[in-house]
Amino acid sequence: RAVLGIETSCDDTAAAVVDETGNILGEAIHSQTEVHLKTGGIIPPVAQQLHRENIQRIVQEALSASRVPPGELAAVATTTMPGLALSLGVGLSFSLQLVGQWKKPFIPIHHMEAHALTIRLTDRVEFPFLVLLISGGHCLLALVRSVSDFLLLGKSLDIAPGDMLDKVARRLALAKHPECAAMSGGRAIEHLAKRGNRLHFDLTPPMHRAKNCDFSFSGLQHVIDRIVTRKEREEGLEPGQVLSSAPDIAAAAQHAIACHLAKRTHRALLFCQQRGLLPPSNAALVVSGGVASNFYIRKALEIVADATQCALLCPPPRLCTDNGVMIAWNGIERLRAGVGILYDAEGVRYEPRCPLGVDISKEVGEAA
Ligand code: ATP
Ligand code: FE
Repeated sequence: RAVLGIETSCDDTAAAVVDETGNILGEAIHSQTEVHLKTGGIIPPVAQQLHRENIQRIVQEALSASRVPPGELAAVATTTMPGLALSLGVGLSFSLQLVGQWKKPFIPIHHMEAHALTIRLTDRVEFPFLVLLISGGHCLLALVRSVSDFLLLGKSLDIAPGDMLDKVARRLALAKHPECAAMSGGRAIEHLAKRGNRLHFDLTPPMHRAKNCDFSFSGLQHVIDRIVTRKEREEGLEPGQVLSSAPDIAAAAQHAIACHLAKRTHRALLFCQQRGLLPPSNAALVVSGGVASNFYIRKALEIVADATQCALLCPPPRLCTDNGVMIAWNGIERLRAGVGILYDAEGVRYEPRCPLGVDISKEVGEAA
């Protein structure tokens, strides 16, 4: 059995065919990053137009590479929540056309559920496990008890860490830095931070007194903004020129984010172990999302995993960012569990905002 997965929730048009044992039979992706970098952010109607222009070709490429005839597919799985309305709409209407034409079952996919389950394609991970999802649009900690049973332990109260890194990189004008051309904000920061001294700036990790598992990044971002402004004045730069202290600022920002993520994750692991929601040892801590490709942040989470006798697991970087494989795999997971398979997809809607699982973040805060 093989599933065709289609992803258009944000700025990547992606498709893949994956079989029951997790073999990736075919995949294709068209990234809009370059276009959006030029405009300084995603403009939804532009993203929609680019999805429309590419979806047919991308799906065709994934299918052809897989050599699975459409008639032999077990189902089509497509991201329908959460995401940009205009982007989700393109993937959904294209998919509904396909399932109508091929007479196949349809499996609506929650984008964050797909990120969380990707690890089960690459590693042998059993339920339950803890997942930390950190990307440009999301930041959450969840206990994954089955394919469709998630407990949300904490989430960002404002922006996501990837969003913060992108904003800091833009404030530091790193796109103009010769070494950072065509890198995402997060990658540019990681690259520069390697030769920076984080101790040159004293950044307190956010919410260090809050006894819950929620996150916050916008305060930290504003503090860094002010530091950059001060440094620009000291170095006599015009806004837009790259500071000589940019590597130090990048290192300090990266360190503060890593500390914040590690502390919240540590608290979540202890909460789950104390409540018997996770075994006292050998539980899996899964980290995914674009920011999970950062090695400094991974190292901080490794320390947390060691301290709680957990195993840290991350999908390979190309499966951490948005892709079609994770959507197809989520379809396989749902087929195997027999949940959420629609034999009549008429009337399916997309949902731009859609929380993942049952939110118990208040309970976590009160327990501490
Ligand atoms: P969503 O939240 O819907 O998944 P997204 O498209 O932002 O949205 P990803 O593609 O998973 O999600 O991640 C992109 C984010 O990851 C960007 O904010 C980028 O700056 C960040 N990122 C990429 N590489 C690194 C890195 N090496 N270190 C830190 N952050 C990184
Ligand atoms: Fe994503």
